[in-house]
Amino acid sequence: MMKNLYIHIPFCKRKCDYCAFYSETSCSELDMDIYIDYLAEKLSAVNTENFETIYIGGGTPTILNLKQLQKLQFVLHKYIDFSKIKEFSIESNPETLDCDKISLLHDCGVTRLSMGVQSFNEKHRRTLGRRCSQNAIENALNELAGNPFRHFNIDLIYGIPGEKIAGFAADLERVKEAGCDHFSAYNLTLEEQTALAGEGIELDEDAACEMYEYAGSFKPYSRYEISNYALTETSQCLHNSNVWKGETLLGLGPSAASFDGVDRWTEVADIKKLIGGEPPEMDSISPMERQMEIFAVNLRTVRGWQRAEWEKKFPFSWDMLLQKAVSTAKLYPGCWVIESDSIRLSELGLLFWNEISMELL
Ligand code: SF4
Repeated sequence: MMKNLYIHIPFCKRKCDYCAFYSETSCSELDMDIYIDYLAEKLSAVNTENFETIYIGGGTPTILNLKQLQKLQFVLHKYIDFSKIKEFSIESNPETLDCDKISLLHDCGVTRLSMGVQSFNEKHRRTLGRRCSQNAIENALNELAGNPFRHFNIDLIYGIPGEKIAGFAADLERVKEAGCDHFSAYNLTLEEQTALAGEGIELDEDAACEMYEYAGSFKPYSRYEISNYALTETSQCLHNSNVWKGETLLGLGPSAASFDGVDRWTEVADIKKLIGGEPPEMDSISPMERQMEIFAVNLRTVRGWQRAEWEKKFPFSWDMLLQKAVSTAKLYPGCWVIESDSIRLSELGLLFWNEISMELL
């Protein structure tokens, strides 16, 4: 039975130039109503007993109007026993958040609000093709003053062409002033088929590395995953931590991924085809390959793996993991911290996680 639920809300006002996530920008309110009905039907048919976390992401979940958000909350409360839910997160966008939506989400049990700002500097947002006004950001932060939710995250992007370390440092100060107990800072990458990738811009990797290091030393937060920083251990995102550790996940909505402990599958990235009944794409590999994949994914976290935690969950031998880590460490000196009972990547190693994980798989 699945432990974590992800719901994709695949609608956005417009497409940001760097974004490779699946979302539609021309859906009507009726399309959104139909989609909520689809989610209700799906939830009514699954076993929801073991859910421990709910994560509503997108797209832009707060693009739904108040009535639609109410209906979605009603559906969730109808099919899920909220007394077992340890974390309920929702992503938002400053332009689509207002005081009525904030109170509704709070009253419906949302424990963690995540807001995509990307940069507090209007010029950098323009470079990203993130068309959100400064006023919208200020208004949303005013509405969220005092943080009505237990946890509050702001998403940032760094390494934007023209961005200097002082500007990124100022962004982090704004996050702290806003009362966030968590922030995510993603290094800008040029994803294939995004408008930004087509512009032929050049990224400054040295500047991005400097910003990554600065974020890691920005107190009172601590990095706990390559791109995630929390004030305390309880501020860490439980849903994502569970998913990185290979726990089960049910993903609903176009492009959403699921994992039942054995197989992974991904829903088609097309809302019409999905509602029309197109089946998901299955990813079935051998149990040994799957465990190596889970091992690699959780190396994204600063804590990495502890022997006791691994042995409780997986039959694949810890000693074989140690051997694999030691042989990969020879190719990536300074990137691993290997002890008999724990395996993790160093701060430098986290920067090379993509390459290292490919070596492991
Ligand atoms: S970054 Fe967020 S708001 Fe922008 S297009 Fe992607 S999903 Fe939508």
